[in-house]
Amino acid sequence: MTYRITLLPGDGIGPEVVSAALKVMNFVAEKFNVSIQTQERLIGGCSYDKFGSPLTDEALQTCYDSDAVLLGAVGGYKWENLPHNLKPEAALLKLRKSLGLYTNIRPAKVYSAFVDSSSLKSEILAGTDFVVFRELTGGIYFGEPRGFDEEKGWNTMVYTKEEVERIAHMAFKTAGHRKGVVTSVDKANVLECSQFWRNVVEEVAGSYSSVTLKHMYVDNAAMQIVRDPKQFDVILTGNIFGDIISDIAGMITGSLGMLPSASLGSKYALYEPVHGSAPDIAGQNKANPIAAISSVAMMFEHSFGMTKAAELIETSIDKTLSQGYRTADIARKGDNIVDTEKITSLIIQNIESIYNEQALGVFTL
Ligand code: NAD
Repeated sequence: MTYRITLLPGDGIGPEVVSAALKVMNFVAEKFNVSIQTQERLIGGCSYDKFGSPLTDEALQTCYDSDAVLLGAVGGYKWENLPHNLKPEAALLKLRKSLGLYTNIRPAKVYSAFVDSSSLKSEILAGTDFVVFRELTGGIYFGEPRGFDEEKGWNTMVYTKEEVERIAHMAFKTAGHRKGVVTSVDKANVLECSQFWRNVVEEVAGSYSSVTLKHMYVDNAAMQIVRDPKQFDVILTGNIFGDIISDIAGMITGSLGMLPSASLGSKYALYEPVHGSAPDIAGQNKANPIAAISSVAMMFEHSFGMTKAAELIETSIDKTLSQGYRTADIARKGDNIVDTEKITSLIIQNIESIYNEQALGVFTL
């Protein structure tokens, strides 16, 4: 099996973390006998500098021709004063829209080595492992009419049946190979649009008899994530609620350099770390590559169905952190501070050793 992947390293630390992620991707692909073909294109400020556009049609076409896209980050001081449509960040919106990426997935998983450094008590946090499915291209952020005048401002929250169904199917399928619970988060006690969301999700649930569906109001969900995060498996929610819920979920479990994400549509998939281009540390081999490496784990799971490969990467990250190795952004007193390249090679060494420790045949597709 051969997979075609477009690499969009971008600006700042983007190229450093994508290079690290690519090393891990190639190493794991070889272990699982799949071949990876990569094509690299510019995005963001570096693309503007070369072509006068933060995302060229040619780069976009390369993404259309791939099985998945791996993005680093875009932006930096140099391009801050460009007109809005030429800013590096405009490329992200164009990319997500052009690829029709309607589902954003952000995991909230605690690495065991991090249990003590969260703002939550370790007994509440330990064992937390859930994912947030946020609808990304509909809801109040896109609904019409919208506007404001001197007397009032207004937006419209609207979801079509198709928009709710397609993300609900993705969430139920994922829950089917996890712990089997979908919690749909809405505000159906107040919003008609949420009541509609709830009805459609219930209809979709009928096709997944092995998955339990729960409903939760968004205000309660925000509280429950902090009170008892272990109760969740897959959270399914709309655009505005997911925007907030996924940030809460991310921050209870780690720091910015550790958070991966996936954005999926019907045909295309984009994987990227949540962090930005970190111009303050760019080019210094200091960036934490774990978010990008973990994004590759998500690629193996969601685009290629290689759950075991994804687990192998995640277990190796956990083992490396448990051995006391940290990049500077996540280091505490007594930790062994290492640079981007070193932590990447340590993670690869651990992939090798964990792979070898497993009985032959355990990690097969
Ligand atoms: P940022 O995420 O780039 O950095 C915030 C802080 O976190 C900085 O101190 C940085 O050094 C640190 N940090 C972030 N990622 C890190 C990593 N992997 N390892 C170690 N430290 C890390 O956010 P910002 O400073 O607000 O934005 C910088 C630029 O990035 C801006 O141009 C912004 O628009 C852009 N940005 C891009 C994306 C994206 O490409 N998806 C997301 C957010 C911000």
